[in-house]
Amino acid sequence: MSHNNEELERYRREFLGNISHELKTPLFTTQGYVTTLLDSKLDDKALIVRYLERAERGLDRMIAIVTDLEQIARLESGLELRHERFDMAAMAREIAEDAAIEGDKKGIEIRIEGASAMVVADRKTIEQVVWNLLINSIKYGREGGSTRISFSSQGDKTLIEVADDGIGIAPDELPRIFERFYRSDRSRSREMDAIDGSGLGLSIVKHILEAHGEQITVRSRLDEGTTFSFTLPKK
Ligand code: ADP
Repeated sequence: MSHNNEELERYRREFLGNISHELKTPLFTTQGYVTTLLDSKLDDKALIVRYLERAERGLDRMIAIVTDLEQIARLESGLELRHERFDMAAMAREIAEDAAIEGDKKGIEIRIEGASAMVVADRKTIEQVVWNLLINSIKYGREGGSTRISFSSQGDKTLIEVADDGIGIAPDELPRIFERFYRSDRSRSREMDAIDGSGLGLSIVKHILEAHGEQITVRSRLDEGTTFSFTLPKK
């Protein structure tokens, strides 16, 4: 077996191990709540609702993981990019409208700066990139804070930035956040537990941009905020 094959094999094993590990937690918690419910006398309505809500949260998390896995499988089976010319600013405004419900829950204002920013790229997958980054900026954003999406020209490319003033990422965790299933200690913490996440969102972002021949970069300061940036060709 060549060195590369061995590495691939090890990677596959690790990936499968990670998937089952990540699914196990919500699976067992959900099972726990359902079993407790069945064992209970079922006369306390409030308790029943509370347990069902927790079970639902486990199911939500499992759905998030499986949906992201499907997306990864699609990306890996060879992504067919269909390049077209479109306005990133218009796309960002549409996505921001959809994300506003989530933003409102935390009082986070989404600002799109720039009237228009033309790029040539695969519209569908770039939508996913912007959506993932925007949703993260809200998930890890500060109550009452804001997210800013801005565009600027860099030679023959357009630079797109998604910046939040949220919890930030510790320097030692920064290099790892694009790994599959990586979630920082703080996102795993109780406070964040209510928000479903698979730890796959950023790895999907990275994969899509690499398929475009581009890269995603991040800068962040703990407790101050995080900015993700990438470029796309103007034509
Ligand atoms: P998920 O959000 O499902 O955990 P992602 O792959 O989207 O998975 O992100 C990986 C990790 O990177 C998150 O768990 C979080 O710790 C960190 N992260 C991503 N975006 C942000 C952000 N805007 N601010 C702070 N931390 C972030």
